[in-house]
Amino acid sequence: MRYSVQRETIYGVLCATKTHPDAEWVYNRVRETIPDVSLGTVYRDLGALVRCGKVVALRTADGLTHYDADVTPHAHFVCKNCHRITDFALPAIELPQGFAAENETHVYYGLCADCGKART
Ligand SMILES: [Zn+2]
Ligand SMILES: [Zn+2]
Repeated sequence: MRYSVQRETIYGVLCATKTHPDAEWVYNRVRETIPDVSLGTVYRDLGALVRCGKVVALRTADGLTHYDADVTPHAHFVCKNCHRITDFALPAIELPQGFAAENETHVYYGLCADCGKART
């Protein structure tokens, strides 16, 4: 019981943000509601949410795994300066006959519009 309440809280935290947070950020948010939660259980619950398809895990070049409650296919742009992750719609891609994708990850790295402007 307790276990599922915690998992629901974690899922709620992820649904309420578009920032693609890492586990530690989620942990700090969940602690506001469940003060005695441990980082280990947050990791475990995040893993379970990913396995059941409710959450997408996104590994970026900084070595962190970011979590996204938006499971519709979309691309990500990671800014190398401010580390912000932005969502982009993807055009429908047609796979060759006989290919069945189970997950797709599209990650672009570079400078976001704000940081690009600041450089010039
Ligand atoms: Zn940026
Ligand atoms: Zn996303």
